[in-house]
Amino acid sequence: MTVRLVNSQGRAGLVVDDRVLDVERLSAGSLPSDPMAVLARWPELVALAGRAGDSVDIESEPFDPAALGPCVPRPQKVFAIALNYRRHAEETGAELPPAPSVFTKFPSCLTGPVADVVLPSTFVDWEAELVVVIGRGGRDIPEHAAFDHVAGYCIGQDFSERRVQMAGSRPQFSLAKSYDTFGPIGPAVVSLDALGDPDDLGIWCEIDGERVQDSRTSDLIFPVRHLVSYLSGVCTLAPGDLIFTGTPSGVGVARQPPRFLRPGEVVTTGIEGLGTMTTTAVAR
Ligand code: ZN
Repeated sequence: MTVRLVNSQGRAGLVVDDRVLDVERLSAGSLPSDPMAVLARWPELVALAGRAGDSVDIESEPFDPAALGPCVPRPQKVFAIALNYRRHAEETGAELPPAPSVFTKFPSCLTGPVADVVLPSTFVDWEAELVVVIGRGGRDIPEHAAFDHVAGYCIGQDFSERRVQMAGSRPQFSLAKSYDTFGPIGPAVVSLDALGDPDDLGIWCEIDGERVQDSRTSDLIFPVRHLVSYLSGVCTLAPGDLIFTGTPSGVGVARQPPRFLRPGEVVTTGIEGLGTMTTTAVAR
């Protein structure tokens, strides 16, 4: 049964027929209101979604992405992968990596699917990304069981300040990508049954309507099942942990001349089956 889990005013909601049903009310209190607590009880949410269509008379809100917070508001861990699309590795002149290059985005950077990104400088770049949301935790997860641990996917933007990224003698991805507002996610955590082939989804990014990234997740060097297995070999994964899986070619820093976000520009990020997010660049 397809689940579309959103965070509406801090409360878990299920999207059904363009309406948002409150999870705690829909479950008559058997499931909690906190989206993080609901993620830890994903099988019960799937069962609830199966019954949600019969609950048309329950109080509901229209589905309005602008009213939503980050669909996973307080993840324990946010992993992100650098250089994970073949064509993006080519555009940056990097060799194909022998293993995933992992950094973190600190959870304080997360925002909802319709939000501002506050520009601390004139060097802020865009990175459309598929984000994996862990449902069932675990450690040493084999690749063949990886999808059993995935609640679903959402869209993410891995906004990046390229000057801070290269300010030290070694690149510092985690800091450069963790400015407040640099991590929009959403609009919903969508279960994989809604997605056709979860390893081959269209992904794109537009700036003021101009398409700057356009690819498919089948171009990933390390696909989702490998990332779940690899990361769980180091850290015990917890419900709600996020994996930003990397960005396709078309980022601003790789352009000649480089191009970065300017105040007022609107970034639209989309993934097949997951909808779109709209982020507006504003000056600090
Ligand atoms: Zn990235």
